[in-house]
Amino acid sequence: AEFVSIDLNQLLRDSAILLEHQFKTARIRLDQELAPDLARIQGNQGKLQQVILNLMLNAKDAMQGTSTGLITIATRNEHDQVILEIRDTGSGIEREHLHRIFDPFFTTKTNPQPGQHKGTGLGLAVSYGILQEHGGKITVDSEPGQGTTFRLEIPATESPN
Ligand code: ADP
Ligand code: MG
Repeated sequence: AEFVSIDLNQLLRDSAILLEHQFKTARIRLDQELAPDLARIQGNQGKLQQVILNLMLNAKDAMQGTSTGLITIATRNEHDQVILEIRDTGSGIEREHLHRIFDPFFTTKTNPQPGQHKGTGLGLAVSYGILQEHGGKITVDSEPGQGTTFRLEIPATESPN
């Protein structure tokens, strides 16, 4: 796959615009805390967008039925890495599910609510592979009943844009 120089902040803004209408309909607020001096990365734009969209849609699914849903997208430089966090105020992930969410076909969306779609359980498995291809990683931190944070680390390849 061809890697190109990517401004992750711009990719996040573009992805947020794609989901703007869906979020509005679901009464979900989206906050962006994007570091103005974020380093660029080398990557596959399409694949990284797939990861971002999947994480944002998972966050939305986790907030079905709450009236105060908030998704925060944050970026920052950390040593030689670019960090991207996607936080939500949704259901959180049960302890006993945490170690399985990156497994192919693991899904809890077997009986979707109105407005939800049936899960394939592939989003996080595919995302995990994509981060590996980028020499990075994806980790999760979740508090049942409080919300979830997914954190991506991708090596920075150039100085701030
Ligand atoms: P799918 O969305 O098709 O179910 P994913 O691989 O994207 O598959 O996610 C797997 C499972 O991880 C979900 O079914 C859900 O149980 C859990 N999950 C993922 N993201 C979140 C989140 N932000 N909040 C709560 N649970 C989540
Ligand atoms: Mg998903």
